[in-house]
Amino acid sequence: MRIIRDPRAWKETLRDQRKKTVSIGFVPTMGALHRGHMSLIERSIEENDVTAVSIFLNPTQFNNADDLKNYPSTFEEDCRLLEAIGVELLFTPTYDDIYADGFTYQVNETELTGRFCGAARPGHFTGVLTIVLKLLILTAADRAYFGEKDWQQYRLIDGMAKSLFLDTQIIPCELIREESGLALSSRNALLSLAQRKIAPYFHQIISSGITIDQMEQLLVEHGFRVDYIEEWEDRLLAAVFLGEVRLIDNVRIS
Ligand code: AMP
Repeated sequence: MRIIRDPRAWKETLRDQRKKTVSIGFVPTMGALHRGHMSLIERSIEENDVTAVSIFLNPTQFNNADDLKNYPSTFEEDCRLLEAIGVELLFTPTYDDIYADGFTYQVNETELTGRFCGAARPGHFTGVLTIVLKLLILTAADRAYFGEKDWQQYRLIDGMAKSLFLDTQIIPCELIREESGLALSSRNALLSLAQRKIAPYFHQIISSGITIDQMEQLLVEHGFRVDYIEEWEDRLLAAVFLGEVRLIDNVRIS
């Protein structure tokens, strides 16, 4: 696996790769890889000749300095997992290189960004869209894979790709859960042992078919702080806190 830091070198490498390859798949991540990430990568490997991955803990999408400071990092283990599964190319840019403009150029969406997760995390999705656009332009993959765990994020990225006529096809991938039902997330590593035991109730409660009021009440009784639970199109989207750790999930409404 080739590890490349410099954005221009990445762009050139991918351009050369495209001359010799039929299709390139791309999976952007913030590292601390788990089975959820790996399922996206497996799908990309299945559907493309070459798979490129990025690991970049993107500061502009964190509206809380402690959240960024505490975010888990397992870079060496991540590299081992990526090598073992057969990823050819890994992009690990630095902040200064990828934000040479000092984040003065930003991608702003004016409808969906302020709702759901965006309401409690001002600026979050602008940070996400800006970094994803940079990564998509630099990589110019045929397909890029995003998890349905972050449903609102997937929808915003898909909307951006269509709105800006990007050449990369945005592929949504199934949400991967633990056996308990808890959605896999890098932030699960930050839960205490006691919180770890409570966390599976989140998915159990939001998929139980009771009213949103009843869900909120039950979640509070189990020790969660509810950020939001809202229906949107055919989904129920939800975010809760256990202590300082924010967990998100969504289920399709039948
Ligand atoms: P992150 O490193 O959290 O930015 O996630 C990178 C990609 O992996 C995003 O497209 C996420 O939606 C996706 N992802 C994270 N957790 C899961 C999961 N449990 N199931 C499916 N995809 C996931």
